Amino acid sequence: MELLSENARKILQERYLIKDAAGRSKETPEELLLRVAKTVAQAEKKYGSQQGVEKWEREFFGMMSNLDFLPNSTTLMNAGTGYGQLSSCFVLPVKDSLSGIFQTLRLAALVQQKGGGTGFNFSELRPSGDHISQSGGQSSGPVSFIRVFDFAAEHIRQGGKRRGANMGILNVDHPDIFEFIRLRTEGKRLKNFNLSVGISDSFMKALEANADWNLINPRTGKSVRMVKSGVLWSELCEQAWLSGNPGLIFLDTINAANPVISIGEIAATNPCGEVPLLPNESCNLGSINLTKFVKTVEAERTELDWKKLGETVEKSIRFLDNVLDINKFPSESISKASLANRKIGLGVMGWAELLIRLGIPYASVDAISLAERLMSFIQEKSLKASSRLGIERGSFPNWEKSVFFPDQPMRNATRTSIAPTGTISILADTSSSVEPLFALAFQRKNVLNGETLQTINPLFLEMLKSERLAEGKILDQVISSGTCTHIKELPGKFRELFRTALEISPEWHLRHQIAFQKFTDNAVSKTVNLPSDSTIGDVDQLYRQAWELGAKGITVFRNEAGDQQLLYRGIKS
Ligand code: UDP
Repeated sequence: MELLSENARKILQERYLIKDAAGRSKETPEELLLRVAKTVAQAEKKYGSQQGVEKWEREFFGMMSNLDFLPNSTTLMNAGTGYGQLSSCFVLPVKDSLSGIFQTLRLAALVQQKGGGTGFNFSELRPSGDHISQSGGQSSGPVSFIRVFDFAAEHIRQGGKRRGANMGILNVDHPDIFEFIRLRTEGKRLKNFNLSVGISDSFMKALEANADWNLINPRTGKSVRMVKSGVLWSELCEQAWLSGNPGLIFLDTINAANPVISIGEIAATNPCGEVPLLPNESCNLGSINLTKFVKTVEAERTELDWKKLGETVEKSIRFLDNVLDINKFPSESISKASLANRKIGLGVMGWAELLIRLGIPYASVDAISLAERLMSFIQEKSLKASSRLGIERGSFPNWEKSVFFPDQPMRNATRTSIAPTGTISILADTSSSVEPLFALAFQRKNVLNGETLQTINPLFLEMLKSERLAEGKILDQVISSGTCTHIKELPGKFRELFRTALEISPEWHLRHQIAFQKFTDNAVSKTVNLPSDSTIGDVDQLYRQAWELGAKGITVFRNEAGDQQLLYRGIKS
């Protein structure tokens, strides 16, 4: 595995390789991938022969060790170990009773202990100050329970490997919505929660008409207060501008694409937003490293290797479907819901790096049309692969109640999802997900031990060399600022290609998200970066545009706005 970078080895060593009691690694990175390949190939036994197991073990090992594809971190950490929980994404129901709330918290602790992230919609909880019949007292409301969940997550720490990530959602018609919106900036800060407001189409229409909006007590179904939709919205945008939270999730857009709507409506997503799920459902993810699919056709001319990409998508879908069969789910309820729809999420990483290698600037129409072409190809191949598995292994149990019935056999209710690939993109040594490069030189803070890793983008170094540009002076400038757009010694095209996240306008960020969303069954995890001088009005406009253009959710992040910025541009000595 000479392909692995120094950073990748460091992360594997710290968090992924199995250790003995004294903390010494019991496996090498190669052995880790072999452990994963062997375990995932075991699922073939259920459907075929021992020969199949060996064939797929080789195939799976091959694509992981080439860094063509990697499954989500939980699969890498836990496959073939006593833990065996292989999904990263969960949504748990929160019922309006004290025992229901704490049963969910217990389950969330178990999920997080093994590396999974949990999303919750708290809108069924009665508002603060509402009547409690058993005690005659008053309810403390959803916001106080979110704090309890946050406190618990702080102490779980996922077996020392990563923090428990959470998504907390409250619907826009809940009486406690104002308190929820201010949750990130008022009082003691939440450390382990992303927050999103659940937005309905009817709210967006009320907003367009500047109409009044009813806040409804979920216990009684009655309106308790009327507010101006515009006032609620302005508060929401201001808080997002201040802290990056709350984001929005567009519930009607999500349910319009829900393939098993007869089973239930979706009310929540996992922590980073890429997987809308029914209560108790989970989803296991994997991502294709796009930089491995570039080929040189004539001297100097590069293009995508569509054939190899198609084959890799097919194998990846099989891999992710196998994971469902060997997954050890943390509860019977999660096992039942997850296996009924067999949702999986294949995504991509290295998009920004791919564009650079093809000579296409991120902020360009060419990038958007390639995004659409690429993702529609991946979506179509995934659909075919899952359909073939449906014929080979049987369709998912709820298939007869799904949009695929009766014409199309289908093994998995959803097949694609664009995850942030926060860790696996470091293992694959490429840019994360569909994000632009964050910086050309940066420090990355390890949230667990506070250590910082310093990196200069290797692709930038490689391209500097190939263009025979004088490195010394240029690198000094890149190291101090993290960017290269101001360096006059560099050719214009080069500066355009290496634009970083904050030098790309929010509109282009959103256009990429929408281009990928058009051809993704689940959702796209994307941060729309805003420059520090952007206004509340900019957030307002982006949030409205996101809904109009068909996003399933949106998150903005203003530079230096929040307290959780883990990446810093430029290296400060
Ligand atoms: N996740 C989590 N804790 C973390 C990072 C991620 O629980 O510290 C979960 C979360 O549900 C997120 C999903 O894993 O949406 C995928 O995140 P990412 O792609 O960054 O994970 P990777 O597989 O790269 O570690």
